[in-house]
Amino acid sequence: MFDGPVVHVVEGRQRKLLDGSPWIYRNEIQAIEGEPIDGDLVRAVDYRGRLIGLGIINTASVITVRLLSYREVAIDAAWIAERVRRAVAYRAIFRRSDTDGVRLVFGEADGLPGVVADRFGPVIVVQIHARGMERWKETIAGELVALERPESLVFANDDPIRSREGLPLYRSVFHGPDLDSVLMRENGLTFQVDLRQGQKTGHFLDQKANHRFLQKFVRDKTVLDAFTYSGGFALHAASAGAAAVEAVDISAAALDLARENACANGREDIRFVEANAFDHLRNLHAQGARFDVAVLDPPAFASSHKAQAGAVRGYKEINLGAMRLLPPGGLLATHTCSYHMPEDLFTQTVLSAARDLRRRVRIVAVRRQDYDHPVLAGHPESLYLKSLWLQMLD
Ligand code: SAH
Repeated sequence: MFDGPVVHVVEGRQRKLLDGSPWIYRNEIQAIEGEPIDGDLVRAVDYRGRLIGLGIINTASVITVRLLSYREVAIDAAWIAERVRRAVAYRAIFRRSDTDGVRLVFGEADGLPGVVADRFGPVIVVQIHARGMERWKETIAGELVALERPESLVFANDDPIRSREGLPLYRSVFHGPDLDSVLMRENGLTFQVDLRQGQKTGHFLDQKANHRFLQKFVRDKTVLDAFTYSGGFALHAASAGAAAVEAVDISAAALDLARENACANGREDIRFVEANAFDHLRNLHAQGARFDVAVLDPPAFASSHKAQAGAVRGYKEINLGAMRLLPPGGLLATHTCSYHMPEDLFTQTVLSAARDLRRRVRIVAVRRQDYDHPVLAGHPESLYLKSLWLQMLD
């Protein structure tokens, strides 16, 4: 029986937790019994004192408790290692032999709050964003090395988001050499992953299935990939027989990486443009440019609920800009990776752009993040990437 500190949850908030949400916010706590140190295990109970679960507390964070278990269990190294094993086992169902990039652990959705582990070819990159999990990092890394046998494993604990948890920023090697970059295979293509300067952990693994899906639509077509980063959609299009591909990004460093990737795959014919996609879409329209297929994959425009209205305007503008370039029959693959743009609001926003242009569209597919970023029921934050595929009918 767990006899540590007890967190009493405000009446009415137990329901969302029992539905699967693992987060207890600061303002959902009625009282704390005992004197937990940040990072400690606590027992969460409802207003009648009934067990909700065991979790880790961090009073420095608005997400004050992250639940680990809904039962009374001993949370020790063996328990943590078992969570890692389950996460890796789930990936085995969908892993592809032509792809050696995979998110092995996706935080809350794998029952390991704030823990992300990405495998890029021979390297595993681990990030920890929750104070209470920092103390388990060696257990997690050790289990990942035992299961996956990577050449190296590094902790990329330098994301500024850690400061919100009161955690230090550092980068360290747990196993093997500390590499600057590494080659990874995705759908049979080679991508270079920048392990030091890259965005997030270095490569957007959440788009693997959407990258591949694009290949169905591009043979002999002209393709625009706006917000290309390391060239994911552009390269998949070029290698699936697109007639011409233009890829746009605002970041020179991203485009350097994308160009190297194009060369590595023998696709020097992709045209790379360093520009603000908002301006570029407008300029292309002014020049009368046309594309058969357009991809939009911007960074999150809404990082909080307050930013939602501005984000809606931003998404509408780029979707309108892309639709203007598409002839009847043209295809738009449009994305949002913002949790604060739920599926229905995103769809409405994109369709409102079509309405403004007086165009009919067919909804070809409604997709999400790839399988290795699983969605936890009751935790809408784990569903962040929405992918809407439309065909312009007129
Ligand atoms: N499509 C990529 C991921 C894109 S991430 C993939 O499939 O892997 C978002 C990208 O948008 C980043 O590379 C960032 O540099 C770029 N970006 C951000 N703001 C931009 C803007 N206003 N115009 C063009 N690119 C932008």
